[in-house]
Amino acid sequence: MNKYIYADNAATTQVSERVLKAMLPYYKERFGNPSSIYSIGQEAKDAVESARQIVASYLNADMDEIYFTSGGSESDNWAIKGIAYQMGKKGKKHIITTKFEHHAVLHTVEALEKEGFEITYLDVHEDGIIRLDELENAIRKDTALVTIIYANNEIGTIQPIEEIGKICREKGVIFHTDAVQAVSNVPIDVKSQNIDLLSLSGHKFHAPKGVGALYIKRGITLEKLIHGGAQERKQRAGTENVAGIVGLSVALKEACDNMEERNKRVVAMRDKLIDNLLKIDKSRLNGHRTKRLPGNVNMSFRGIEGESLLLMLGAKGICASSGSACTSGSLDPSHVLLAIGLPHETAHGSLRLTIGGDNTEEEIDYILKEIPSIIENLRRMSPLWEKIIKEEN
Ligand SMILES: *Cc1c(COP(=O)(O)O)cnc(C)c1O
Repeated sequence: MNKYIYADNAATTQVSERVLKAMLPYYKERFGNPSSIYSIGQEAKDAVESARQIVASYLNADMDEIYFTSGGSESDNWAIKGIAYQMGKKGKKHIITTKFEHHAVLHTVEALEKEGFEITYLDVHEDGIIRLDELENAIRKDTALVTIIYANNEIGTIQPIEEIGKICREKGVIFHTDAVQAVSNVPIDVKSQNIDLLSLSGHKFHAPKGVGALYIKRGITLEKLIHGGAQERKQRAGTENVAGIVGLSVALKEACDNMEERNKRVVAMRDKLIDNLLKIDKSRLNGHRTKRLPGNVNMSFRGIEGESLLLMLGAKGICASSGSACTSGSLDPSHVLLAIGLPHETAHGSLRLTIGGDNTEEEIDYILKEIPSIIENLRRMSPLWEKIIKEEN
């Protein structure tokens, strides 16, 4: 067994051997700038364009609809601010999103709110899924954009994207989805799913950190976020992260070509974790039982602190999370768990395990052996647990 068990694949993933190998030449012998006309420059340019073709093909998009960025956060910012500023000029200053977006979306719309945009936050209900009639009712004449996360990074729930896209298309509203957790884990087809803009990030599927992409459907115009040189067809300035872009495309190909086979294994491991962790007294699964990412397990255990649980798991060599990596370190309960209606106390006692193709059955068994006794120990020391038990009797 490894020195540690990595069960935090929603936070980031390891760069795969094949990806690293494909990237290395672009730091060394093929280090040229894609904007240079001599051959090592052109080699780098060709590499970026082949990568663009690969990314396009796995989304069922066209090459000229793919723009490389520095990652998921930039793609989200660009899509949302770019459309908001573009449509704002025409008097459309209303944006619809959900209560449980990633902070890259939530904090972006909050910033726009301060600039005079109006935001509607759709409820995500107890199952972590929006209701289509509520979306339909929220759309107004001045709605510029609907932005809804494809698969949630904390509880893994998957939204009815195709139906959301269909409603937006019928109403003539632009639809962006943060698909950072979905890409590589579920099949994506921007055409049949009626998606206008889609964000993805390499480091969630075994490419390096700091590289991502934004799909922009042909014909949609949005304001630039990064001004400067003429890269990315003059829409996103900055010398291309050539090695990162190559790595992203190789990682995406690897993940998508093996998706079906891998998901069979990953879903079996996820379900084994969920079924067994639900046997723990006063535990609950957060988010819909099946409409969730193949590798996502998010549980709450009453009477304990998620942070203590994480520390104890860490001591046993298990890397997990209590919510999003961005909120760890703060004591605020997760906005995602509050959005699905958990009381503060229960939201505090939550655990996210996100597993991937590299995890083994043996590791799942080890996790399942350790967690129940850790929880028992923590509850034995917990005044909160004592109170819960007393209230019951
Ligand atoms: C990780 C993540 C992001 C941010 O992507 P970065 O590449 O880390 O900037 C955005 N949205 C979701 C859903 C994520 O999981």
